[in-house]
Amino acid sequence: MTTQEQLTVENADDKEAALQQLAADLDRQDPLAHYRRRFIGTETPLSYLDGNSLGRPLQRTAEDISAFIRDGWGGRLIRGWDEEWLELPQAIGDQLGRAVLGAAPGQTIIADSTTVVLYKLIRAALAAVADPDRNELVLDTENFPTDRYLVEGIALEEGLTLRWIETDPNAGVTVDQVREAAGPRTAVVLLSHIAYRSGHLADLPGITEAVHDAGALVVWDLCHSAGSVEIGLDSADVDFAAGCTYKYLNGGPGSPAFAYVNQRHLPSLNQPIWGWMGRKDAFDMGPGYEPAAGIRGFLSGTPAIFGMLAMRGTLDLIEEASMAALREKSVKLTAFAVEVFEAWLAPLGVELASPREPAERGSHITLDHRGFTKESVASLWHEDVIPDFRAPHGIRVGLSPLSTSFAEVLHGMAAIREQLAH
Ligand SMILES: *Cc1c(COP(=O)(O)O)cnc(C)c1O
Repeated sequence: MTTQEQLTVENADDKEAALQQLAADLDRQDPLAHYRRRFIGTETPLSYLDGNSLGRPLQRTAEDISAFIRDGWGGRLIRGWDEEWLELPQAIGDQLGRAVLGAAPGQTIIADSTTVVLYKLIRAALAAVADPDRNELVLDTENFPTDRYLVEGIALEEGLTLRWIETDPNAGVTVDQVREAAGPRTAVVLLSHIAYRSGHLADLPGITEAVHDAGALVVWDLCHSAGSVEIGLDSADVDFAAGCTYKYLNGGPGSPAFAYVNQRHLPSLNQPIWGWMGRKDAFDMGPGYEPAAGIRGFLSGTPAIFGMLAMRGTLDLIEEASMAALREKSVKLTAFAVEVFEAWLAPLGVELASPREPAERGSHITLDHRGFTKESVASLWHEDVIPDFRAPHGIRVGLSPLSTSFAEVLHGMAAIREQLAH
């Protein structure tokens, strides 16, 4: 080995040690660090970098669910609906509004899946606009697949035109783009608050204002922001919003979604799936559909109780810790991941396909390299390092403020570097 090579190796070792030290310091100084222990599986060396697709379960959830099976379902049987369960969609919706969404009570409800909720909200928004001259729906090319497919279907159903904003895949939709796309023909604008691929955090208040200035209504998809960034739905005067609860809210696989309807729109809310649970006096089972007053009119069928019980554990934790503290940790986590990327992966030709400015991103980043394939991610999973793959060659690294540690991020990034070296 030449002296030069020797120095390079020593520098690399120093850098390695410095990052190890930094991760340890960040974990030690992290005021939320103790929450990690409340999640199942965090005592193992596994590196979980996909809590933005499916959050880890809380220890408490195992107890809550088994108590529910034993005492609630098993003990109260059908009486449970009258005693508690029928009210859960609104009760947990209100807690979610308070803890996470910045929404006053009576505007949020737990129901269906995000896909179905978005369908109902977009149709409700179109009904609220009710102007035949406004026959355009605006969305962006980087919106989540289900959002794109839904509006294609709705456009066919309602005879509407889609106006696509071409978004930079490494960034996201801007206020200027929305101002340019929305106008006198626009009925509804549908956007994601955080881009599912790049992690770009859209300017929700600014874009909402731009949509309103154009005389249109906005529907926000909050799947990647609920539980990762502070959201002020009421203060931004958002019209409609929807999101998942199995990502940062840890409701478990397939837990029901949430819908937010601004109280301004509630008196005339007209959603398209008229079921008995959304009817006034559901158990009268009377003739003809008459919507229940308020947000309850958004329901269609029987609510999914299991997933709601699981998410309640996370909502309690968020209320205890505060969304502001979660956001602060999230920013530190993604900033640390970017720092490790700079040190280890950028020299190998990996690119950051996410905003560099922490204020412009949510709680995940995407790393891009031709060497990243489905197979390489499968082999990471085999080693208990779990990011996810986004075609054509992205690895998405998702960091959950309540359950991810800095050491876990470093361990995962080291495995990604090893993978690339092979
Ligand atoms: C995860 C996700 C969805 C998923 O919708 P489902 O109906 O739960 O499958 C929708 N939109 C966005 C932006 C997502 O990230």
